[in-house]
Amino acid sequence: MDVVVVGAGPAGCIAARRLVDAGASVTLLDAGPGPPHPESIAGLDTVGAADEQTRRWPEVVVGRPDGASRPYRQGLGVGGGSLINSLVLSPGARADYDRWVVEFGCTGWGAAALGPWLDAAVARLPVGRVDAGPLSGAVETAASAAGHPVGGSTLDGERLGVLTADLSVRAGRRVSTAEVVEGRSSRGLEIVPSTPVDRLILSADRRKVIGVSAGSRAFTAPLVVLAAGAIQTPLLLHGAGLIDLAAGVPLRDHPSFAFTITYRPSQAPALGWPRAVSTVLRWSSGEGVDGDLQAVVLDRVDDGTGPRFGAVAVGLMAPASVGRLTVDATGLSVDTGALDQRHDRARFRGAVRHVADLMTSASVDRIADSVCIDDVGTTIDHLYSMSDSELDRWLADHPGPFAHVAASCPLGPAGGGGVAGIERGRFGALEGCDGLRVVDASVFPSLPTGGLQVPVMAMADRITADLVTDLR
Ligand SMILES: Cc1cc2nc3c(=O)[nH]c(=O)nc-3n(C[C@H](O)[C@H](O)[C@H](O)COP(=O)(O)OP(=O)(O)OC[C@H]3O[C@@H](n4cnc5c(N)ncnc54)[C@H](O)[C@@H]3O)c2cc1C
Repeated sequence: MDVVVVGAGPAGCIAARRLVDAGASVTLLDAGPGPPHPESIAGLDTVGAADEQTRRWPEVVVGRPDGASRPYRQGLGVGGGSLINSLVLSPGARADYDRWVVEFGCTGWGAAALGPWLDAAVARLPVGRVDAGPLSGAVETAASAAGHPVGGSTLDGERLGVLTADLSVRAGRRVSTAEVVEGRSSRGLEIVPSTPVDRLILSADRRKVIGVSAGSRAFTAPLVVLAAGAIQTPLLLHGAGLIDLAAGVPLRDHPSFAFTITYRPSQAPALGWPRAVSTVLRWSSGEGVDGDLQAVVLDRVDDGTGPRFGAVAVGLMAPASVGRLTVDATGLSVDTGALDQRHDRARFRGAVRHVADLMTSASVDRIADSVCIDDVGTTIDHLYSMSDSELDRWLADHPGPFAHVAASCPLGPAGGGGVAGIERGRFGALEGCDGLRVVDASVFPSLPTGGLQVPVMAMADRITADLVTDLR
């Protein structure tokens, strides 16, 4: 059986691996380059990786409330988002997936069904850590004094408190999900980088996808697996007339906001210090699901003048706000919907103020010359002077570094508002269309409370395993 997989991010790499292992002959296409990747990607500099222009989609921007737009980070190349992400491995909590059954009607997609796939996803990657640096230590001290428990790691999706970050690293180097397809048995697998797919090819009756076109090249196959990510996958489906982006489709994202500190000269981490996350604080607002708030500590952020800065990014991990992806004559428009809902604004505001209190604690003050709330030197005092509505506005205008877009083609029961199928033999399939499965972050009904990489891998694996059973 020939299969074309579009997109070599975490979903596409896992799907390709499972298909090849089942004996299929797979062509894995990606719009961006394959290895070797620049040192900014390959090492342990997560900010440098996220800023690496050659490994991110240049034209994806999101709108801002003031009408301006800002670039939205999405991975480009073999490895996709796992080339530029912050490497933190977390599977989400059981309740995240049980919500899919209760709130979205996705029978058979709860925690009990997905648990083994989440475990298998983690087992496909190495798990490493970096030492906690000065900022992590100071935040841990302040958080502990504020009543947060200390212990456990991000791989325990149920655990709250100050956690050690488990990362996809080996020997001080990034390990992207490309590892599951590169450098292993490649019989039956052809990886074709730098090949942007511009169109799905449909049969004459338009009821079956029979291949894809990429510029002057066509790749035909009885089965196409779509893994181009939560923004590009719906765009391709729209181009084929399978969904309507003119009317817009919903999408979801974790709103975030970053504090930065300037270290006192004597307190800065050493020059060789890894620029990766060592510590995560996970807690509950008490007005949402458990673990709906998170703060991620980066001990070292550089501006080219050496290790003078650190950062803490706060995220709302179970937002109710829903954004929108639309296409019109002016092009693609991404609105992440962040903080649209009053309840989200209240929880996020509370989270930011709580972290502000940690950032002004004696332990952080000992190591920091200043704490800022934007990148032009506005200090944290200004945050304390803001009313609720002023702070809401500030947070909307100063989005943080998370880029966890998902749920633009969500799983759901036939006729029940979902786009991708949940019935066995039709996992990830679109109604009325054969020869196509969607396997990437698009298919999430809602966001898990952790990062997305492990859940994306698990979902892609499960959908593809269903496909493999079907092919036999
Ligand atoms: C800056 C950043 C930090 C993050 N940090 C974390 C973290 O610490 N932990 C975590 O768990 N998650 C994190 N994430 C989220 C996680 O990386 C993504 O959710 C995940 O990569 C999504 O996987 P995907 O396979 O669905 O899509 P993607 O990773 O987006 O992969 C899609 C692939 O398809 C390719 N593609 C797209 N369109 C086409 C086309 N037309 N033709 C051919 N190829 C195409 C792209 O080049 C890309 O390689 C982060 C993401 C970002 C951007």
